[in-house]
Amino acid sequence: MTARILSGKEIADAIKREVAEEVATLAESYGFRPGLAVVRVGEDAASSVYVGNKVKTSEELGLVSEHHHLPAETTHAELLKVVDDLNNRDDIDGILVQLPLPRQINEKEILEKISPEKDVDGFNPLNVGRLAQGQNALAPCTPAGIIDMLKRFEIEMRGRHAVVIGRSNIVGRPMAQLLLKQDATVTIAHRYSENLIEITRTADILVVAIGRAGFIRGEFIKPGATVVDVGINNVSDTELAKELFDEAELEKRLKTIEKRGFTLVGDVNPREAREKAANFTPVPGGVGLLTVAMLMRNTLDAAKTRRLKK
Ligand code: NAD
Repeated sequence: MTARILSGKEIADAIKREVAEEVATLAESYGFRPGLAVVRVGEDAASSVYVGNKVKTSEELGLVSEHHHLPAETTHAELLKVVDDLNNRDDIDGILVQLPLPRQINEKEILEKISPEKDVDGFNPLNVGRLAQGQNALAPCTPAGIIDMLKRFEIEMRGRHAVVIGRSNIVGRPMAQLLLKQDATVTIAHRYSENLIEITRTADILVVAIGRAGFIRGEFIKPGATVVDVGINNVSDTELAKELFDEAELEKRLKTIEKRGFTLVGDVNPREAREKAANFTPVPGGVGLLTVAMLMRNTLDAAKTRRLKK
């Protein structure tokens, strides 16, 4: 079997197109554009790229965005004040505090401070609780994007066994809740799960969010399953690359390692997954692109809920 490759780009482009259209309609009919505030503290290099991407995409789609870049020594109280001010502004619909935060800041308290109606990352405990109760809530962008993608590729979730590996607040846990909401039978596995392979082999839908390059081999996959690879890992080891990619792909990857020092690899062995699965999300070009698109969707939804329904 050769798996169908689920293009995250195709889905992300469709989501972004739809958001841009709705934003234009909102501006025309109601005279406002959704506002997104992205707050970054310190100089984390990856955060800088992510935030740049979020701000750029929101501008492309016609949203209004602000980037608050605070120095690394910002205190907890100062950051709380920034969030509070954004909570109180009527022109701001979505607030995102980029993680990780410097040590002196209590991340949990900051996330709790973001007004639930502006919580476009879906990390505020009120939204997490709503999600756990099966209510509509602003849901974390990566898992929400995965559900959207599975729907658009017409992959049945109702009644199917979905196995999520990883239980982080950003991916694994909300992913499991969202799959449950779609009527899947859900199993969550994590680093202490015994007989992982026995569990994953019964998965019709396997979502992997671990953070270990190529960890899920072909033997973990039920033939004909849908495999969603959330992992993003930098691989510089050419021997590992040889295990992960078939000849056609390998040449390209080795060139990338030579040029950039690493290549992006998911948590699933792509060569083996393609042989076993019916559907497979590639890395890069799969799930990674959905996150920012879904952030735009969440900001638009937050704006509509707050401004049109009050
Ligand atoms: P995390 O480190 O917070 O959580 C990893 C989870 O994997 C933990 O719950 C742990 O129990 C589990 N785990 C670790 N080793 C395991 C093992 N051997 N067997 C079974 N379970 C194991 O990571 P995270 O933030 O959830 O991210 C996971 C991966 O997804 C990372 O590679 C990250 O870069 C990627 N990610 C991608 C996106 C995106 O595509 N937009 C977004 C977030 C995270």
